[in-house]
Amino acid sequence: MLALTNATVITGDGRTLLARATVLAADGRITELRAGSGVPPGARVLDLDGDYLLPGFINSHVHGVTFGPLFASGAPPLAEEAIRRNLVRHLAAGTTTVLSVDGFALPEEVAEAQHLSPLTIKTSAGLTPAALTAAQAVDGAGLTERHLAASLKEQVEAGAVAIGEAGSGHTLGGGGSEYMYIPRRIKEETGVEISPAQARALKEAALGKELDPAARDEAALQAALAGAGLAGRLTPARAQALIAACVLPGLKPARRSIAEAAATARHFGLPLIAHTAPPSLAAVLAAARAGTHTIAAHTNHDSFTAGAMLAAARALKRAGAILDGATFDSFGARRTTESPANLVTLLKAGLVDLITTDYGGGFFDPLPLALKAIVGAGILPLPAAVHLLTAAPAAALPGLAPERGRIAPGYIADLTVLARADLARVRYVFIGGRQVFHPR
Ligand SMILES: [Zn+2]
Repeated sequence: MLALTNATVITGDGRTLLARATVLAADGRITELRAGSGVPPGARVLDLDGDYLLPGFINSHVHGVTFGPLFASGAPPLAEEAIRRNLVRHLAAGTTTVLSVDGFALPEEVAEAQHLSPLTIKTSAGLTPAALTAAQAVDGAGLTERHLAASLKEQVEAGAVAIGEAGSGHTLGGGGSEYMYIPRRIKEETGVEISPAQARALKEAALGKELDPAARDEAALQAALAGAGLAGRLTPARAQALIAACVLPGLKPARRSIAEAAATARHFGLPLIAHTAPPSLAAVLAAARAGTHTIAAHTNHDSFTAGAMLAAARALKRAGAILDGATFDSFGARRTTESPANLVTLLKAGLVDLITTDYGGGFFDPLPLALKAIVGAGILPLPAAVHLLTAAPAAALPGLAPERGRIAPGYIADLTVLARADLARVRYVFIGGRQVFHPR
C-alpha cells in the first residue's frame, strides 16, 4: 500500500481541491481519497508537505515518441536516442499517457517504443490513401514497402485509439514546413541556415497566407531574403520556386485526406484528430458537421489572426467539435512559436476543451510550465486548468486513458506531484502506483 499524505489534492474534475488530504493506492489503483493525514499501518508513506497531487497528465497530441515514419509527411523516423529523449521529456513533465499522432507507425514500431519508457504510449491510425499521397508529395522518405502495404484496419485492430493526425503543418505548408522543409531546401541550395520565423516570412512573401503563387509580394520577398541573409544568394524568383516546391504539392491530397480520415473515423467509431489551421479549416468543419467525433487539433494555431481563430473556434464548437489548445513551445523555448497569445485568447473565451503540447519542432513545452503560466496569470483556476490536462482528454478520447485522469477510488494510480512553491517543478511521477520519476 502506498500512502501519499499531507497532499493538496486536485482530483481532475475541474473544481475540487482538497488541502491536507491523503491518497492511498494498492495493486496499481487508487483505493481511497481521505481527508486528513491519517495513514494505515504498514503503508509506504510519502509526506508531500502540502505539494499538489494530481492525476498524471494525458497529452493527446504528440509526435516523435515512436519508431516508424514521423509526421503526416512520412519523414524518416527519429533516431532511438531522440525518441528516448522525447519520452523522458514527457515523463519529466508529469505526463503519464501520450498519444502519438504521427499516424503511419506500424503496431510493432509502437510496441518497440513502449520498451523505452514506462509512459503509456497510445497511437492514432493514419494509413489512408490520400494521406500517403500527401506524404509522398512532400517527403515520404520514412515510408517503407511495409507501410505502403499495411492497412489502417491493421492499425485499428492493434489498438489505435483515434484516426489522424489528418493533415499537418508538414503537408499543408504550416509550421512543419517552416521548421523543417523550407530551411532544409534553402540550406541545400545556399548553405545558409534559416530560422522558422525567417522561413515563415519568406513563405508568406512568396505565396501569401493563402499559399497562392499569384500572391507573391516582391518588396516583402526582397526584405525577407535580406532578413534571412540570403540577399544576393537567391533571386526572388528562385526563392519562390523552392518554397512553392516544398509547400504546394501536399495541399490538395492533404485536404482530401481530412475528408477521407473523417469517413474512416465514423466507420470505426473512433475520434478524428484533424490539423486545424487556415488551409484545413473548411475540411475540419465539414468533418464535424458530417457528425464525425472531431478533435480540432491546435485550434490556437498561430497562423490564424486572433479574430479568425475565434470565429473558427466558435464555428467548430457549434459543429460539435472538441477544441484542442496546444502549447507548442510558446511558454518556453519559443523557437517555433513566438508567444502563447492565441492560446490565452482562446482560454479566456472559454473555448479550450483540452490542452496538448504538439511538437513545436521538438522544443515542446513541459506542461507544468504552461500550467504555471496559465494559473499564475489568473486565466483559469488551478483545478480547471488541471482538468484540461487530465480528465478532459480522457473523456474526449475514450480509448486513450480509460480509468485514468482522475483521483478517485478505482482509478489507475497515475499520479503527478508538483511543488506548491513552484508549479513548474515536478517532484514525483507515479504510473500504476509505481514511482517512475523523482528529480535528483
Ligand atoms: Zn497539426
